[in-house]
Amino acid sequence: MTAVAVDDLTFRYAGGGFALRVPQLRLRAGEKVACIGPSGSGKTTLVNLLAGVAVPERGEVRLDDVAVSRLDDAARRALRRSRVGLLFQELELLDYLSALDNILLPFHLAGRRAVTPERRASARALAESVGIAGLLARRPQQLSQGERQRVAMCRALVTEPGLLLCDEPTGNLDPTTANSVLDLLFAEVARRGATLLMVTHDHGLLPRFDRVVDMATLRVPA
Ligand code: ADP
Ligand code: MG
Repeated sequence: MTAVAVDDLTFRYAGGGFALRVPQLRLRAGEKVACIGPSGSGKTTLVNLLAGVAVPERGEVRLDDVAVSRLDDAARRALRRSRVGLLFQELELLDYLSALDNILLPFHLAGRRAVTPERRASARALAESVGIAGLLARRPQQLSQGERQRVAMCRALVTEPGLLLCDEPTGNLDPTTANSVLDLLFAEVARRGATLLMVTHDHGLLPRFDRVVDMATLRVPA
């Protein structure tokens, strides 16, 4: 089973400048892949294209055989919310929401009725599994960076996504905290059989992955 397929993709930011061309990328279902490459090489751009946040000028992005790049904005957003978990270095937690409501944000965004008792319970169970069950009433600014990262991780996992896209998720953490957050993330990914793509600068992490994709070999001149 192919979880992610990119074919003959070209992307350009409006106004020219940076262009990204990727002839082919495949992620098998359940595969854990690291993405490396120098700053400015297009790693975040690629993550946004896979998530359907950005749309290619040419070519195709497929998630489980759905051609994301051919969907309209609303359909891409719906697909992203139901199938993709996103985790960034800038956690994008909302300061006016509790940790619990930040975890439940994907459901809040889908409408009030989407926040069911079952989903609240699974958010709490996730928080429990990553050791932040006692912190759920706090606001993000009342948490440490490592605790905030775990809230963001629970939010990425709460919809039970088949695909997790992580963009330098531990870039703001000290090595010990980074490792413990990644232990939890890998355990959750393994438990669900999810597919993982993680952009990272930390070469010490690479042995944890099935495969490493280097932007230098993935890209061709646009
Ligand atoms: P990386 O994540 O590998 O550091 P990015 O994908 O963030 O690289 O950026 C790749 C290139 O695209 C950079 O040159 C950056 O300046 C440019 N870029 C990123 N976002 C935008 C944008 N919204 N508009 C125009 N150019 C952008
Ligand atoms: Mg980046």
